[in-house]
Amino acid sequence: MTIETKERYRLFIDGEFVAASTGESSTTTDPATGDSIAQFAAATSTDVDRAVEAARDSLSGWQAKSPVERGRIIHQVADVLRDHAEDLARIESLDQGKPLSQARSDVDDAVRYFEYYAGVADKLEGKSVPRGAETLDMTTREPYGVSGQIVPWNFPLSIAARGVAPALVAGNTVVVKPAPTTPLSALHFAELCREAGVPDGVVNVVTGGAEPGAALSSHDDIDQLTFTGSVPTGEAVMKSAAETITPVTLELGGKNPAIVMPDADLDEAAFWVATGIFTNAGQICSAADRALVHESIYDEFVDRLVDRAESYAIGSGTEDPDMGPLNHDDHFETVLEYIDTGVTEGATLETGGEPLDRDGYFLPPTVFTDVEPEMRIAQEEIFGPVLTVIPFSDREEAIDIANDVEYGLTGGVFSRDIKQALRLARDIDAGSVYVNEWFGGSIETPFGGMKQSGIGREKGLEALESYLQTKNISVNLDEKPR
Ligand code: NAD
Repeated sequence: MTIETKERYRLFIDGEFVAASTGESSTTTDPATGDSIAQFAAATSTDVDRAVEAARDSLSGWQAKSPVERGRIIHQVADVLRDHAEDLARIESLDQGKPLSQARSDVDDAVRYFEYYAGVADKLEGKSVPRGAETLDMTTREPYGVSGQIVPWNFPLSIAARGVAPALVAGNTVVVKPAPTTPLSALHFAELCREAGVPDGVVNVVTGGAEPGAALSSHDDIDQLTFTGSVPTGEAVMKSAAETITPVTLELGGKNPAIVMPDADLDEAAFWVATGIFTNAGQICSAADRALVHESIYDEFVDRLVDRAESYAIGSGTEDPDMGPLNHDDHFETVLEYIDTGVTEGATLETGGEPLDRDGYFLPPTVFTDVEPEMRIAQEEIFGPVLTVIPFSDREEAIDIANDVEYGLTGGVFSRDIKQALRLARDIDAGSVYVNEWFGGSIETPFGGMKQSGIGREKGLEALESYLQTKNISVNLDEKPR
């Protein structure tokens, strides 16, 4: 059965689509044209209450399933998603704006999260603690309960899957709140979970903006929160979670350095840096935002980067160009303001910077040179296809510049000298470092930020730590009378 976009979407609560309590709706638009794609329900705190209640009520049934059975259902989700991969990719590309082949890759990631965690279901073991002959001491790993998951608009489906798959395998149930400019794939995903045999209430989706997000993060019946988004919203989520002592995983922004040493393969490095900053129109937390380039190869490297930037074919995501539009109008304006800021700050605009003369939110790959590390365009996350190139004279200076930002999400090193590359990788303050590539890592590898880039890790086995709590059980074996 083909999945098509609908004209109207409702909330997905307790296994069915239901209207929002106020009956109000919002519009999601095609970023390539600005035209409406669909209306979706605007959830209020009352709707969040209903979703949390459904998730709470379904907990005991979900936890009563044997781990093997839970693993099989989760594997079945992977299979059902794969069966509908092309339709989901088309919907994601239309709603988010990303090129179709990038949306296909996101759907593939979503499938992989469910495949990967399905196999873990029957391996969530505790341990025994040696305390002497008279005591048996063991730990068990238990789910938190209801997990609230707040998702941004840059990878709507794959980030939802990244959090939901490990949460479910650990025995939690979830309420997902997608971003208001990209709500569609999460709603189709929830429906496919039901088709795959996920019991009603285990996966719920409430759509809308800050209101349902805030209602979820302050809800006193949520047991764990996973937030992916910007630093200011992450701060707000953490503050409201503090009111109920709810544990949070925060996956926030980045301003990631790519250090290019003089001995690097410059063609390769230019390819990876361009890929790192222009994929998904730069709307990636782990993007290669800042190229730190040794002064001896600076001009040569900039020429290669500019050639690459100018070769990008730009168009509507669904036509599968190299780069699509930015996701929505406000964000488009923000990125254009950063370009003005860069010019005002005295950086040189080598290429790009001018929006395309057509409908939609199109900005070509943009490269700033002569960037000083303290400029705002070198410090703040722009979240667009805007690369800042900064020269350095030696390794120490490169590390100083790399680490002199409030973020610490990813970083990269380009060098043929492995010792030098590993020393730099050691010294970069970031949760992930790529050597002679960008966007290294995968479903199986832990991902998350240092400093203001976040708390906790997603992906890999480490993500399970966010969804399990440890109980210690101590048993007295002593038969001596007291
Ligand atoms: P955002 O912080 O504006 O919104 C994220 C989500 O929070 C959305 O669903 C939004 O509706 C919701 N929200 C808004 N106000 C809220 C509130 N007061 N309480 C609770 N929820 C609220 O972020 P964005 O603009 O959607 O996404 C871009 C940001 O996400 C960038 O900073 C990017 O770096 C970051 N990001 C990080 C990762 C990662 O894994 N580290 C991945 C993708 C994106």
